[in-house]
Amino acid sequence: MNIKQLLCALFLLYSVKGLSRHPKLLLISFDGFRYDLLEKGLVPNIYKWASMSTWFTSGVKSQYVTYTAPNHMSIATGMYEEEHGIVGNYFFDPDKKKMFDYFNSTGKEGIVNASQADFWFKGDPIWLTNERWETTRRSASFYWPNGESSFPYLPHTPKIARPWTVVGDLKSWMKDADDVIDAFTRETESVNFVAWYVAEPDHTLHGNGFHNKEIEKTLKHLDDLFLYFIKKFDDNNLGTDVNIILTADHGHAEIKDHKHVMCVKNFVNGAGFEMGDHMIYPHSEEIGKQIYTNLTEAVKKHGYEVNIHWKEDIPERWHYKNSSRIGKIVFEPQVGSAISFSCTNEQMEKQYGENGTAKFNSSTHGQDPDRPEMRAFLIMRGPAFSENYTIADIPSNVDLYNLMCHVLGITPTENNGTMEIVKRALKENRYLPMTHGFVFNQITDSWSFSLILIPSMCIVIAFLPTAVKIPF
Ligand SMILES: [Zn+2]
Repeated sequence: MNIKQLLCALFLLYSVKGLSRHPKLLLISFDGFRYDLLEKGLVPNIYKWASMSTWFTSGVKSQYVTYTAPNHMSIATGMYEEEHGIVGNYFFDPDKKKMFDYFNSTGKEGIVNASQADFWFKGDPIWLTNERWETTRRSASFYWPNGESSFPYLPHTPKIARPWTVVGDLKSWMKDADDVIDAFTRETESVNFVAWYVAEPDHTLHGNGFHNKEIEKTLKHLDDLFLYFIKKFDDNNLGTDVNIILTADHGHAEIKDHKHVMCVKNFVNGAGFEMGDHMIYPHSEEIGKQIYTNLTEAVKKHGYEVNIHWKEDIPERWHYKNSSRIGKIVFEPQVGSAISFSCTNEQMEKQYGENGTAKFNSSTHGQDPDRPEMRAFLIMRGPAFSENYTIADIPSNVDLYNLMCHVLGITPTENNGTMEIVKRALKENRYLPMTHGFVFNQITDSWSFSLILIPSMCIVIAFLPTAVKIPF
């Protein structure tokens, strides 16, 4: 091999490094990570990383209802819940007469699979927008709620689609971190987009609230996970290539005590209606009026801090009305309170009442997204984003889809988000507004450029001796 061939070989070797040649993005969600849990004393490694990144210090606003499945879909599609169609963790579709229950809260056989049928989904998730843009782009979903589900649009599912099954622990999350790194760096068919979901700290907060020290342990595990992940990320030299957005689906609010839990079963029973996780679908107007009266009287009598809305009276700012899947009667617990469709007052009294032995430690979500307690954390870092930069203004989680499309160099499909606040996270001069110029900027900045440049250089080098005498 002469020196020209050696040079070409070296160039080509460099160009086949495992990374995708497309702009790359990792979207991470730590379920229920409220924006103000990002404290140095609680999660020192995440805090340090956030300090070096673009950090939305007041968090990001969720959508009503502030539950897990719908907000993960809003992040992925940029749509309000009434638009993308996932309007709760479990809810009823009166047209199809079918129940959605992705997390199997109702315990019905086959319900998880039934919640993945394509008719449920009306939005275009980022993993599909990315893959549809060019056939060489590949996406992965690691446990993202409904990330493995079949959508009505091509290519229906991402290249890697790992379904969520369990909460997991530090050991299993570290294995997942290895797999995320592998998805970006594998020699063949590496991906350029990953959505990765971790079910904590939400799970711990529901069972323990903020005050019995369990949350500190879980946050420590998440911090250890993040340190492990970032170290491996840096060891693989991904920092200059892969953008990261770290966020959550909603915040959390401590429930004051058992008297602040409205057990709906006590006031609504019998037949003539369906139930979602925070709403009721009466079969007739008359039944609806009776249920509404029972509930509003119960609120008055027991002093529950829960608003009972007729669907048509739901605040406009929630964008939570325009869907047949939203029940005629909608519950809105205030911060400090909760509703439950599974408990009874008797059970609560027995376990947590004056003579009960257990202290009531529990937190929940589902409240008004304009309350600060419902806000999730939001940090972004990588070649697209500014460093050591904080933004106090509060974007909406539907804005993230546009931002992700921008970072990936693709055109978003129709959605409800804007770039107004989130665009401030972008590095100036490098990531220009969404124009053809932007795409060119991306190409000159990325592996795409290397793939054009390197073979061209090889051709030039190969033919050079016939024209010019070169010094090697
Ligand atoms: Zn959640």
